[in-house]
Amino acid sequence: MSQQFIIALDQGTTSSRAVLFNHDSQLVDVSQQEFTQHFPKPGWVEHDANEIWDSQFRVLQQLVANNQLTPDDIAAIGITNQRETTVVWNKKTGKPICNAIVWQDRRTAARCDEIAAQGWKQKIQEKTGLVLDAYFSASKVQWILDNVEGARALANNDELLFGTIDTWLIWNLTEGAVHATDPSNAARTMLFNINNGEWDQELLDLFSIPQSMLPQVRDSSGDFGELTFQGKSVPIAGVAGDQQAALFGQVCFEEGMAKNTYGTGCFLLMNTGSERIDSKSGLLSTIAWSINGKTTYALEGSVFIAGAAIQWLRDELQFIESAGESESLALQASPESDVVVVPAFAGLGAPHWDMYARGAIFGLTRDSGRPEIAKATLQSLAYQIYDVLNAMEKDSGIELSQLNVDGGAIANDFLAQFQADVLQKPINRPKVLESTALGAAYLAGLQTGYWQYSDLLKVREVEQEFKPKLPVKTVETLLKRWHKAVDRSKQWIDLDE
Ligand code: ADP
Repeated sequence: MSQQFIIALDQGTTSSRAVLFNHDSQLVDVSQQEFTQHFPKPGWVEHDANEIWDSQFRVLQQLVANNQLTPDDIAAIGITNQRETTVVWNKKTGKPICNAIVWQDRRTAARCDEIAAQGWKQKIQEKTGLVLDAYFSASKVQWILDNVEGARALANNDELLFGTIDTWLIWNLTEGAVHATDPSNAARTMLFNINNGEWDQELLDLFSIPQSMLPQVRDSSGDFGELTFQGKSVPIAGVAGDQQAALFGQVCFEEGMAKNTYGTGCFLLMNTGSERIDSKSGLLSTIAWSINGKTTYALEGSVFIAGAAIQWLRDELQFIESAGESESLALQASPESDVVVVPAFAGLGAPHWDMYARGAIFGLTRDSGRPEIAKATLQSLAYQIYDVLNAMEKDSGIELSQLNVDGGAIANDFLAQFQADVLQKPINRPKVLESTALGAAYLAGLQTGYWQYSDLLKVREVEQEFKPKLPVKTVETLLKRWHKAVDRSKQWIDLDE
């Protein structure tokens, strides 16, 4: 085979990466570059879309140069990206008309409250699978059209384009030839009807967004144009939002398979097959991917504070110098310690949903020290995932047989073992923890025939499987204590404060 590699472009919230994979799904090389976070006002988070493009293109060039690649060596390019972040640019000049509004940005919360008060919540949930929130792109696009000078007139004149980051990268990579996205990204805009796979006119009207701004929606394994370099072209053949790409990279192709990514927060996704499943506990229904015109759905639950709690141990409490040290410190804890940490620093998400909860430490005794608090903090990640997974199993009626994991924090063996214990299910940690980039590579490689499904099922290499060791009775006692602690941390902030 002359084409030896696939390149995944992994455009994240804090850095842009280009990752080189070979046919055995091995990660051959990575180039990475961080870019600037802008916080112009409290609650506002912006990125310079030009800087995102520059950094993404530079890491691609670096990867090509470092590995002396020619276009003939690269079978295809896949793209995965931070989701929901909103870019609006001028069709003629190719210049963004303002900074990109990042998914974390809360400036449109009041607009979302207004829409909720008009009774739209349920309709939006039915159409998009999402909970009405400023997090998603719709209200961000409206904000740009209403607040950037001249934007509304340009939009009405068909001179502006909207895209999530995947679309912005595709448009630049193809020098403006392709304005497209995939259903996993479209599903996060709150403008896309996940039942019929089309942009929803009623929602576009609600947010006053002209249809002409929207990208075409193409299959996740599909034709997104070509990147031309050294006089030859390489197909861009796979696109998915970061969490969906990770689900694909973890080879969760079958209904009922799930993955959890342990990063700053946690994202748990379960493949629910060709049917969307609606949650009774506030989880999201979303599109996992669309291949050969066939849509696969997923249930998604997230935990706001996961690896961030380890950063808190390191940066605020200064118990450790690096996140990795949390493991050796936890192992020094007294086995009798009953300390529980509830890291509700930003309230509690699914399935508790209490924005007024705050972080707390319970069960302190005179001998509680750094090791006991570090251990309890690591345990809190596993407990939170237990709660989300439990809700997901109830919603879907599917009981998981194992959990596939990835992300930076699950390199921690103590956490991985404790997660297996709490779930009473095996935890399956792959060799390549870069599931997100791998998923984008897989989507692209399947499209161009570089890989077949059977190749992918064969190559997923397990680095370690953690089997439950703690007796069920012990786990039940631990979970009871955890839930007691969660209950006591709820409603901490008074509404009138
Ligand atoms: P993100 O993509 O959200 O930036 P990563 O997947 O890179 O996250 O994981 C980084 C997070 O994982 C950080 O919050 C860090 O505190 C945590 N982390 C990294 N290594 C470890 C470890 N060995 N033990 C516990 N937490 C860790």
